[in-house]
Amino acid sequence: MTEKPDCYEFHDPRFRGLIHPSAHLEKLALGFQWAEGPVWFPGPQVLLFSDIPGQRMMRWTPDGTLSLFRYPSGFANGNTRDREGRLVTCEHGTRSVTRTEHDGSRTVLAAEYDGKRLNSPNDVVVKSDGSIWFTDPTYGILGDYEGYKAEPEQAHHHVFRLDPDTGELAPVVDDFVQPNGLAFSPDESLLYVAESGSSHDDSVPSVIRVFPVEGKRLGQGRVFATIDNGLPDGFRVDRHGNVWTSAGDGVHVFAPDGTLLGKIRVPETVSNLCFGGPRGNRLFITATTSLYAVYVDSAAAGWPG
Ligand code: MG
Repeated sequence: MTEKPDCYEFHDPRFRGLIHPSAHLEKLALGFQWAEGPVWFPGPQVLLFSDIPGQRMMRWTPDGTLSLFRYPSGFANGNTRDREGRLVTCEHGTRSVTRTEHDGSRTVLAAEYDGKRLNSPNDVVVKSDGSIWFTDPTYGILGDYEGYKAEPEQAHHHVFRLDPDTGELAPVVDDFVQPNGLAFSPDESLLYVAESGSSHDDSVPSVIRVFPVEGKRLGQGRVFATIDNGLPDGFRVDRHGNVWTSAGDGVHVFAPDGTLLGKIRVPETVSNLCFGGPRGNRLFITATTSLYAVYVDSAAAGWPG
């Protein structure tokens, strides 16, 4: 008989329908400096993630094999895959968003706006129309730990949209202190963006904001949820529209109406997460020095897309 997992914290009855009460939080790998940016590739069944200060990207496969994917990584942070299954990466070191082509070559998609260098792209998501949306806080240029220390050239810490046809880079929000993780609702009518500015300023609320998507722009945003422990970094939206977000004490799950449903407690500060595995029901969690996973009763929106 196995011990009942104690990693779950129930705040709403709906949470029971999203987890398996007997599923344990597993520690899959350790020894990273600041693990971030997990992304699952359904074709090859591979998880990639970043170790930002370690200047490396790692590759994990379900047989338990961990290997080096890229070194040096340019202080890579958030990752996603595009409609063609290509890796898209935010790099602090090069202050750019890059795409890794199927032949392994690397294409710079965005490195400057208004003739000035970006701050340090942090996290990225690709919409079904191919547009690439990413956040540009200053974490990668604040010091020499997660990038190269430099003065910001941008007047704001933007959320940007990169047009897939013209390559035009356009700000869609400019009033974040430090925009961080971002994700669309399943029907892409909403964009959620994390505010992580409390990392350096206690007066900044630890919130996820939500904005209506109006074509290439965003409408008026509002606060979607407040994180009651630590701050929101990376997050994902599941097929039901629930928001699974990183927090100081683990993963917090919010219903589409903003209600906190429950938490999956993780022993280290969580930076980011993604759904993956053969059926999309395994939640991979990057948390400080380690990679964790837990089977859940949900999957990413559009799975196995
Ligand atoms: Mg982040």
